[in-house]
Amino acid sequence: MAVAEDSRGASAPERREALKAVWHEARSCERCALAATRTTVVFGAGDADADLMFVGEAPGRHEDAQGLPFVGQAGKLLDSLLGEIGLERADVFIANVLKCRPPGNRDPLPGEIEACAGYLRSQVALIQPRVICTLGNFATKLLRQSPEGISRVHGRVEVRVVAGRAVRLYPVFHPAAALYNRATGIPQLQEDFARLPELLALPPVPQPEAAPPEAGGLEPDPAGRPAAPLAGGGPEPAEAPEPRSPPASGAGGASPSEEQLGLF
Ligand code: URA
Repeated sequence: MAVAEDSRGASAPERREALKAVWHEARSCERCALAATRTTVVFGAGDADADLMFVGEAPGRHEDAQGLPFVGQAGKLLDSLLGEIGLERADVFIANVLKCRPPGNRDPLPGEIEACAGYLRSQVALIQPRVICTLGNFATKLLRQSPEGISRVHGRVEVRVVAGRAVRLYPVFHPAAALYNRATGIPQLQEDFARLPELLALPPVPQPEAAPPEAGGLEPDPAGRPAAPLAGGGPEPAEAPEPRSPPASGAGGASPSEEQLGLF
């Protein structure tokens, strides 16, 4: 999957078509055991040319049923946080570290993160976001390639190379964690989200001349397998758990269309 290299000079329509091809590949993925228990692959959704990309942890029950990310209670909070800064889902791209639901919403396993990282790498390389906002510990540790937990690094913007691209990486708490501790969690998320417009207004980060796709976070496996050795997939004892939210409404199960994903 040489997506990162190939996409460097590609036009937005070309990158969008390539992203659709990655989605079609992901829909029948069997790279890890989650293929046997998922209902639907939750590839991610939104603007395939977004300046702002969110990366959550993994689909929950409702997402697994609908094939769309963040459609439960945590998603409602995400929608409202976006609304407060004048954005909506169609303006951003929302993805997860894992594209399939871990049974019972357990934490992602290191092998699952490794198996799935190639998809996230392709998404970053093709969407070419200027700002990546990681939601919670798993996405933050993976993209920063560091075991430092979200409590320490939330609200701290850094320029990082992810999948060969220099981006502004901005970790915030996971919305589901804020729902478990509303009194402090929601104001904290609101405060961190309030900085996003200012980050998006900054001039683009200069791209490294010829950063190989293996530079920085999400580097590919040298043998060509989809993912890299990854930092910090495991839980950090000091951190609060980040349970995925319960469903907001009834279950579906059908794979979403391109229109539903926003990839048109
Ligand atoms: N939590 C996540 O991390 N991702 C989702 O898509 C839903 C809930």
